Amino acid sequence: MKKYHIETYGCEMNKAESAAMEATLREHGWERSGEEEAQLVLLNTCTVRTTAENRAWNRIHQLSARKKERAFVLAVVGCMAEQHKSAIQSRAPGVDYVLGTFQRQSFGLMIDMISSGQKVDVLEETPKYVFDASHHELGAFRSFVPIMHGCNNFCSFCIVPYVRGREVSRNPEDVLREIDQLEDLGVREITLLGQNVNSYRWESDGRVLNFPELLRMIAAHLGERRALAREQPANPRQSDGRIGWIRFLTSHPKDLSSELVEAVAENPIFCRHIHLPFQSGSNAVLAAMNRRYSREGYISLVEELREKIPQLTLSTDILVGFPGETEEDIEQTLDLMRRVRFSYAFMYHFNARDGTPAARMPNRTPDKVKKQRLARVIALQKEITSSLMKERVGQTDEVLIEDISRRSSREVLARTTRDEMVVFAAPQNRIGQFARVRLLSIAGNTFRGEEV
Ligand code: SF4
Repeated sequence: MKKYHIETYGCEMNKAESAAMEATLREHGWERSGEEEAQLVLLNTCTVRTTAENRAWNRIHQLSARKKERAFVLAVVGCMAEQHKSAIQSRAPGVDYVLGTFQRQSFGLMIDMISSGQKVDVLEETPKYVFDASHHELGAFRSFVPIMHGCNNFCSFCIVPYVRGREVSRNPEDVLREIDQLEDLGVREITLLGQNVNSYRWESDGRVLNFPELLRMIAAHLGERRALAREQPANPRQSDGRIGWIRFLTSHPKDLSSELVEAVAENPIFCRHIHLPFQSGSNAVLAAMNRRYSREGYISLVEELREKIPQLTLSTDILVGFPGETEEDIEQTLDLMRRVRFSYAFMYHFNARDGTPAARMPNRTPDKVKKQRLARVIALQKEITSSLMKERVGQTDEVLIEDISRRSSREVLARTTRDEMVVFAAPQNRIGQFARVRLLSIAGNTFRGEEV
C-alpha cells in the first residue's frame, strides 16, 4: 500500500480540507505514515497569518532539500499555494505539485497520476471551488462540515477574499447527505464551517435558504432520523451513536440576525457557545478595518444573544496595533472586553499582509507599542477568563468526552456545550460519549470535575 504524510497549517477550513484529502487518499488505496516512509508528502498551507506562512515556507525548503536524499512526491496545497504559486515553483524546485484552493477538483487526478508514476499539469484545470463529499477523519467523533466558502467582506487587513475568493454556498442536500454519513460513522458533534457562515445562501427554484433556515432544516432532519431509528431499530443504516451537538464557525457580527439568535435559542442541539470576532472596540478603527458594524451595534447584539440564550458563552478575535490606532482606541477595546466578558480570545497584533488595503495604510503603530498593547489585552483577558471560571465552579453541565487526560490514563478530557474543558475520572472507553459533570475546581484553563 502506498503511504502519504500530511501537514496542515492555519485555520479550521484547512483542517476540514485536509480531512477531505485524506478521505480521497484512502479511497485511492493510500495509508497515512510518518514523513520518512511516505511516497507522497502533502503540505496544506495557510497565508492568513504571517507565522503560519513562515512556518510553511520553512517546511517547503526543508522538504524540497530532503528530496536530494530520497525519492518522494512533494505537493503544496491550500491558500498559500493559491497566492504564491510561481514563487513556490521558482524558490523550491523540489516541489512537484502546487495546487491552489480553486484546483482542488484536480486532487483525485493528481493522486491517480502519482499512483501510476506519471505527472499531469494540474495547473491547466479550470479554477473553481468544489466542496468535498466527506470531511470525516478516520475514527473521529467530531467532524467539520463545510457549508460555505470564501468571503465577500474585504476587511482591510485580511487576505482571505483574495486567496479564497467570493462566497459560495454548498447545496443543502449535500450538507444533509454528509451529516447522515457522519452520524452513521458514529460522529457525535459537527461544526458547520465557513469563513462567514451567517452569509450562507442557497437559491433553488426561486426560493432562498438562509443560514437560520439551514440550521432549522438540519435539526429537523436529525430529529426525523431519530424518530425513524426508534420505529425501525433493526435498520442497518442507523448507528447506535447520534449527533447530539452542532456548532458553527465563524460568525461575522454584521450578519448575525435575530432570526439566527432565535434558531439557536429554540434548540439545545446548538451548542451554547458562539465565536464572534470583534477585532477592535473603537468605531474609528472598525471603520478603517471595513468591519461594517459599530461597538454599540456589537454590544447590543451581545445583549440580545444573552437575553435569548442565557447560558451562552462568547469567544472572540482581537486585533491590536492597526494603523492609526490611538491610546484612546485601545482603551475602547479594553472597555468592550470588560463589558462583554469573553470566555476566551484569540489575540494578535497587526502584521501587514501584502495585497490588502491595510498594508498600504499610513500611521503604522510601532512594533514596541503593538507588543505593549497586545500584552495589556492578553493580561485583561486572563483576568476575565479566570473570573468567569471561578463563577462556574459548583455548576453542572453536559460534556462530550474527547480524549484521555494528559495527566492520568484514568481520567478523560471533555468539552462542555459552552466550549470549556473539563478533566474527570472515567474509563477510556467513554471517549466519544456524552456525560453530565459537576465542575469542582480550576487547574489552569481547565476545570476539574466529577461525573454526576
Ligand atoms: S469577514 Fe473579514 S476577517 Fe473574516 S474572512 Fe472575510 S475578510 Fe477576512
